[in-house]
Amino acid sequence: MKIFDTHTHLNDPTFSGNTQQYIDNAKELDVDEMAIIGSNEEFNIEAIRLAQNYQPLHAVVGWHPEFAKEYNEEQLVNQIKLPEVVGIGEIGLDYHWEEDPEPKIQKQVLIQQLDVAQQYNMPVSIHCRDAFDDMYEILKNHDMSKSGIIMHSFNGDVEWLNKFLDLGLWISYSGVVSFKNAPEVHESAKETPLDRLLVETDAPYLTPEPYRGHTNQPAYTRYVVDAIAKYKGITPSEVAEHTFNNAHQVYNL
Ligand SMILES: [Zn+2]
Repeated sequence: MKIFDTHTHLNDPTFSGNTQQYIDNAKELDVDEMAIIGSNEEFNIEAIRLAQNYQPLHAVVGWHPEFAKEYNEEQLVNQIKLPEVVGIGEIGLDYHWEEDPEPKIQKQVLIQQLDVAQQYNMPVSIHCRDAFDDMYEILKNHDMSKSGIIMHSFNGDVEWLNKFLDLGLWISYSGVVSFKNAPEVHESAKETPLDRLLVETDAPYLTPEPYRGHTNQPAYTRYVVDAIAKYKGITPSEVAEHTFNNAHQVYNL
């Protein structure tokens, strides 16, 4: 079985100096390939450096809503031309934290990055927290059918799932799907068609059961696969196979 972690932050200082160790840990649990996701200038550069130095890693670069004011379009356009860069992300809207830039600025920078993605046919990894309504309106008005949109760590209910599926999105689940107190996410995972499904860790965040409370790492994508298999009533290898192939399709690998 082969698993693809479509959204992880091995470029986070939590893991620095131990990249090979975390890749080896992942391999032991059949996690063979990963997309390293940037969020600002520093993390984007580190994602690219890792992808250039470690074979199973690919880089995704972009400006997270928290860093919207630092957005540098010239840098983004130059970086996505590198062969190691397979997508733009994480980009999006986050209305949870009061200290983040105001929604108007977040939306503007999201749209600017979607325009770049559209122009260069790059898939995007979307971060969306407490902002489904605005996100839906923006994505609805952007034809991304040639590039592809991943809703990272989807935590919505089946109604939102269906709205985003209708827009042609890929739906990626993180460790949240393994949490006992997330019945809506269990139901959404069950209802997500196998040909739109992706898995991720978002490490070092969102550690799945049975390691909730500890630092997350890419290896634990395995437990996300196990949880989804349980809710779908299929085998982990079926979930792994579909999500691995889907990841290759969306990231053009
Ligand atoms: Zn992330």
